[in-house]
Amino acid sequence: MAIRPLAPTNDPVLREKTKKVRDFGPSLQELIEEMVETMRAEPGVGLAAPQVGVSLQVAVIELPEEQEEEEQEERGDKDPYRGKLIVICNPEVVKTWGAEEQEEGCLSMPQYVGDVTRATRVVVKAQDRRGKQIRLRAEGLMARVLQHEIDHLNGTLFVDRVESLDKLYRIEPSEEDGIDKEEEAV
Ligand code: ZN
Repeated sequence: MAIRPLAPTNDPVLREKTKKVRDFGPSLQELIEEMVETMRAEPGVGLAAPQVGVSLQVAVIELPEEQEEEEQEERGDKDPYRGKLIVICNPEVVKTWGAEEQEEGCLSMPQYVGDVTRATRVVVKAQDRRGKQIRLRAEGLMARVLQHEIDHLNGTLFVDRVESLDKLYRIEPSEEDGIDKEEEAV
């Protein structure tokens, strides 16, 4: 098991439409394990296979356990996806509700963050790491991360969804403010 190097920002693999997973055997399991390790090492809350140079419809997501207070208040219950490792293969957004603009970052584009409008709630159908059909109903950060990762599998980066250049911000490496954002990079 090893950490995989991230594909550089200009790597064409980030712009490809990825191939469907058809073989859920040992090589997929190894890829998933290494993607999880890489995501945790960065650290990030999500990682899609093209980000480590593999053009395959696989993504891993792991949101931190803690919830932002306001998020909790809004919903009044616990997000079932927090603090859990989620692996999705061949995912597809089947339903969306609402729209919300929020700042987003990406491990494949560490120098920038930008304001991106995404659906606030989504239903995603996918397969788990063994090929079993699953359905995820998510809102808030999980809904956003799912949409971000599924974009990666279609060769789309968050900058493509930033409406204008004044909603894209450069992070200076020395800037303390950048630390928070990096933690939520996907
Ligand atoms: Zn990303």
